[in-house]
Amino acid sequence: MTSIFKNIESAVQSYARAFPVIFKRAQGSYLYDEKENAYLDFLAGAGTLNYGHNHPVLKSALLEYIEKDGITHGLDLHTTAKKAFLENLNELIFKPRNLHYVVQFTGPTGTNAVEAAMKIARNVTGRHNIVAFTNGFHGVTMGSMAATGNSHHRDAAGIPLIGVSHLPYAGYMGDKLDTVTLLRQLIEDSSSGLDKPAAVMLETIQGEGGLNAASNEWLRAVEKICREHDILLIVDDIQAGCGRSGRFFSFEESGIKPDLVTLSKSLSGYGLPFAVTLIKPEYDTWKPGEHNGTFRGNNHAFVTAAKALEYFWSDATFQTEVQAKIVHLTQRLQGIAKGFDKNLIKPKGRGFMQGLECRDGELAGAICRYAFDHGLIIETSGADSQVVKCLCPLTISLDDLNKGLDILQNAVTHTLKTSLRAAS
Ligand code: PLP
Repeated sequence: MTSIFKNIESAVQSYARAFPVIFKRAQGSYLYDEKENAYLDFLAGAGTLNYGHNHPVLKSALLEYIEKDGITHGLDLHTTAKKAFLENLNELIFKPRNLHYVVQFTGPTGTNAVEAAMKIARNVTGRHNIVAFTNGFHGVTMGSMAATGNSHHRDAAGIPLIGVSHLPYAGYMGDKLDTVTLLRQLIEDSSSGLDKPAAVMLETIQGEGGLNAASNEWLRAVEKICREHDILLIVDDIQAGCGRSGRFFSFEESGIKPDLVTLSKSLSGYGLPFAVTLIKPEYDTWKPGEHNGTFRGNNHAFVTAAKALEYFWSDATFQTEVQAKIVHLTQRLQGIAKGFDKNLIKPKGRGFMQGLECRDGELAGAICRYAFDHGLIIETSGADSQVVKCLCPLTISLDDLNKGLDILQNAVTHTLKTSLRAAS
């Protein structure tokens, strides 16, 4: 690690350890280091750069706004930038999908939006417990961390994490147990020990938890339980939303209508901090300022977000292109894993949240290191960092997608052969 970062930046840094160069600029699907070496970016700001780095249309909208002294910081004041964002969200996203939400602007990180959603559910129902799922990741502030499964994050809390019950996610028990039946049983049995929850909170595809994807049937069954028992349904779409599943919201295909939805990461479209909690109007019981935050009015993010909605989501063109690339990605990942033992490596995930589950974190880490040495930035996820995760920009060209997947393929072949040779 370069000395200034080693000397005075906290040891908490993580991605920087995996990619130990100094990055200088970025465009589209590429990052460039100080020496002008190019890296294909299959990490994309951990899902924040769905439209790539510095998209020219978003950039010029932002530059024009700044040039005209547009408001930068606006608390929760009404501004022209916020107006345009809300109008586009309503016209281009909510209305065509027959969704009715009010928008809460929270502090600008994902965890803020999750904290708000959890608070609303508790205040509306008067219950404290929230059901979250194994391998779920919802952030690292106290409330959202209580809903996060990973002990690496939880252990840092320093105090007990309370108010959340973790139940097995879709497929967690393999074919041995239908986890949605268990959820129902625990909720309906007054002697199960599960306090009746205010909400069930889930990711439809678990990003940090290792690309576990719930089926549409599972999601619909969870929604049904929530409706029957007067429990709110929260979909945390911070990573899987904004197109990454192949549609704007990751739950669209299932037809469910969550009571609360959290969005952040790619919402600004430009990597600018921005988060919202979408609330069914009947649950918008906030008193003015009850949940606040100084940075709820990042107007630069509103400008790029409004432009991104207009440019990418006004019609079905972008979505259709993304879905075609997803089919290609699925096929290529299947091809890469083909010929290897399924216990060693297998494809996993849904949409543009797919990857390769490896036998262990060591193998997955070695694959990512080889890939980085050959110009591809790609990271792992999962309880033991055992899943190599392709999180490339949705705007990536087919050529670049193939280029990155070729590097990944070589990394897999090289690493597995080396590891098998060492074992024999
Ligand atoms: N929820 C999900 C599904 C996430 O993937 C993340 C971050 O990876 C968060 C919440 C937390 O977002 P942030 O890191 O911006 O607080």
